[in-house]
Amino acid sequence: MRVALDVPLRRLFDYRVPADAHRELRPGMRVRVPFGRFRSIGLVMETADSSDVPPEKLKPVIEILDSHPVMDAAALELVRWAAEYYHHAIGEVLAAALPKALRLGAAPTATSECWAVTAEGQAAFERGEPRRAPRQRELLSRLIEMGGATAERLAELDPNWRAAARPLVARGWIASSDEPETVAEEPFRVLPSDLVPSAEQAAAIEAVCESMGRFGVFVLHGSTGSGKTEVYLRTVERALARGQRALVLVPEIGLTPQLVGRFRARFETPIAVLHSGLTDHERLVAWRDAYSGRARIVIGTRSAVFAPVPDLGIIVVDEEHDASFKQHEGGFHYSARDVAVVRARRAGVPVLLGSATPALETLHNVIKGRYVRLTLPRRATQAEPPRMSLIDLRTCAVRNGISTPAVEAIQRHLREDGQVLVFLNRRGYAPTLLCTACGWIAPCRDCDARLTVHRAAGRLRCHHCGADAPLPERCPQCGFGVKPVGQGTERIEETLAELFPDVPLVRLDRDVVRRRGDMEAAMSRMASGEARILVGTQMVTKGHDFPNVTLVVVLNADQGLFSTDFRAPERLAQTIVQVAGRAGRGTRPGEVLIQTEFPEHPLLRSLLTEGYEGFARTALAERAQASWPPYCRLAAVRTSARNAQDAITFLEEARAVAQVPKNVRILGPAPAAMARRAGRYHAQLLVESPDRTALHRFLDAWLPQIEQLRSSRRVRWALDVDPIELF
Ligand SMILES: [Zn+2]
Ligand SMILES: [Zn+2]
Repeated sequence: MRVALDVPLRRLFDYRVPADAHRELRPGMRVRVPFGRFRSIGLVMETADSSDVPPEKLKPVIEILDSHPVMDAAALELVRWAAEYYHHAIGEVLAAALPKALRLGAAPTATSECWAVTAEGQAAFERGEPRRAPRQRELLSRLIEMGGATAERLAELDPNWRAAARPLVARGWIASSDEPETVAEEPFRVLPSDLVPSAEQAAAIEAVCESMGRFGVFVLHGSTGSGKTEVYLRTVERALARGQRALVLVPEIGLTPQLVGRFRARFETPIAVLHSGLTDHERLVAWRDAYSGRARIVIGTRSAVFAPVPDLGIIVVDEEHDASFKQHEGGFHYSARDVAVVRARRAGVPVLLGSATPALETLHNVIKGRYVRLTLPRRATQAEPPRMSLIDLRTCAVRNGISTPAVEAIQRHLREDGQVLVFLNRRGYAPTLLCTACGWIAPCRDCDARLTVHRAAGRLRCHHCGADAPLPERCPQCGFGVKPVGQGTERIEETLAELFPDVPLVRLDRDVVRRRGDMEAAMSRMASGEARILVGTQMVTKGHDFPNVTLVVVLNADQGLFSTDFRAPERLAQTIVQVAGRAGRGTRPGEVLIQTEFPEHPLLRSLLTEGYEGFARTALAERAQASWPPYCRLAAVRTSARNAQDAITFLEEARAVAQVPKNVRILGPAPAAMARRAGRYHAQLLVESPDRTALHRFLDAWLPQIEQLRSSRRVRWALDVDPIELF
């Protein structure tokens, strides 16, 4: 049989089943096996009789951990597909798919500790033993009377029962075992809602429901507040009514408590919630609820795409464009959205991709007829879409990053009793600390980056490696006074407080939101109207309603326009549209002001005049011309090393050994735009092809070759298929 082990090798390992194995072995079960000098827990992928390893060299399995597979055939197939598509070690794919506790051997179903009397204990009791220990005798008698009991029940009867149990265990008179808890089928109930779906919502719900039991990809395109969640709820309800279960994927859960809340308010049924903030034990408990089928709805972030969902009926991916669906860290770079589509296809169920700003890839699939678009227009009860306009930073006075027209607009909206949202995607006080006498700039020792001034904390911090130092008052080079240059949210907050001394304001970024609940507190100050101005980063764009915000100011649109990453403008447009979605809800129309030094930029112009739709058309045309995705398939090999040359040399050698077919192109190697980060040098090589099959066939042949390269030992490297961030 062949076992997947959690090691970074793209292969399975052969073992034999001992003749005296007391359990039948099936794929998806866990086994304990010898591996090198250690023991390891692996997952059985195949139970083949034959092996390339000679039988006398095959090591036997030490222990079979499960009586039922922890992953069913469909789940194993999905993992196998992901390992192949992302060209990644299957053991590490499994590590992403299974909770850590399970990989360490925890039982897949909740168990309870059950105690019973042994035959010896029964005989001893009948002889009248134990004679001089009344509490032990009482426990023994109780267990005989009850025919065994759980530890929980025994503790209810006597909180100190374990003291009495110990000597009985030592004499072999009582014993415990872990028995699986039985899961009672709980009926679900849909709680009444007075929301009446609009005609468009009803049509969308109908389209998805007609596809129940069949594969189909539906793109639910609707602005913030257009009622996407209601479509999720009603389609999930339909799947549950068919006796099936639902999987709902969301971006980072800390940012979408409202969605989970809506599901809980609608369905009276256990909901398993899986996200990165859980402890190992909490994760195991949630996974078990999903695995046993007790939870009819599983809601989770990225890795929940691999969660067990028996009788899966529908998959929903909310905010499908969100970058958090793509794994960036570690070696296994997968896209949960793309895996969700593959999972739905294999399970033969519909998948619903919702967004106000669908990814360009997704829109391209709509154009190609592969996905069906369902559009939700703004509701009649909603205000008109906000008026967007540009402020040309070259022609007006600017004070600490805020232009005079923006200040005047804020004044006007506050006077008219509105709330204001000021967006800047840069936290800290200022991005640079400069000595005006000698030109010294506070650098990060380990990165090609400047240190950011955090004035309130009195620190200089690197946002790339986390380096942290006290904030100096004088230049370490010449002793002259230093000054912070440029703006972060902390400084904008200060400037606004000076401009509007009587207006309460609140800031929202990673520096002020440290614990769970901080964010809710800030949000509620804004929602209650206590605060009038909100200053924040990306965080303000996610899933929260501010019905009284009438003005949104985007302080700097230019970071996204001129980046080495071809996806930067897409992210910029998505952010602007998402932030703008906060304006003019309720009944008042909103206003959005975007500060830029490039008011003639074609992407900004198309966004302004034709909205996201128009932007997407322009941006897709640009991508087609440059043959970037979705008009080609891309994979990136990234390296990092202690010295700059090593990072490049490996990629050069990798390129040299490649036998590149006609329709595949290799670009690079090139150092990253910020080559040095956290003391390591980064570089990348891109592999590009218009033909997905050709690209993967090439990678299949090429990767084993570059794994053999001697220079690979001096670097850390990883392959990223369909990368969404380039550097
Ligand atoms: Zn100086
Ligand atoms: Zn740094």
